[in-house]
Amino acid sequence: MSTDLRDLYQEIILEHSRKPKNSGPLDNPTGEAQGNNPLCGDRITVYINLDGDRIADARFEARGCAISVASASMMTEIVKGMTVGEAETALQRFEGHLTAKETPELIEDDELAALMGVREFPTRIKCATLPWHTFRAALGGSGKNDVTTE
Ligand code: ZN
Repeated sequence: MSTDLRDLYQEIILEHSRKPKNSGPLDNPTGEAQGNNPLCGDRITVYINLDGDRIADARFEARGCAISVASASMMTEIVKGMTVGEAETALQRFEGHLTAKETPELIEDDELAALMGVREFPTRIKCATLPWHTFRAALGGSGKNDVTTE
């Protein structure tokens, strides 16, 4: 990865963590879940509002590192307006890129690419994926959907 690109990615992550999009609770969510990453200390609550099969709104409250907050911020922007199936595909693609042996391609115009730097730091991968796993749990409704990374 070039230094310029690395700097750009760093900037995107910092920008999202300083001014996260969709941060704060959601009134009457159709689903919510709490995520916990004990390795880093990240804690997140994800709220969603489903309109039929479509994700009408997604918000989160997080106390965690820059990577987990930035990932949650980007995620809520991405999944809003998607169907549950589309969001599931996006989640799988994101996870696949993070754990792929080869450097992922074709996503350099995508803000999520900024998070791919964590591939070099396996413990930080959990910071990046925590919001997504928590989101997946929130799709299950408002019951006990707590997620803890292993
Ligand atoms: Zn973290």
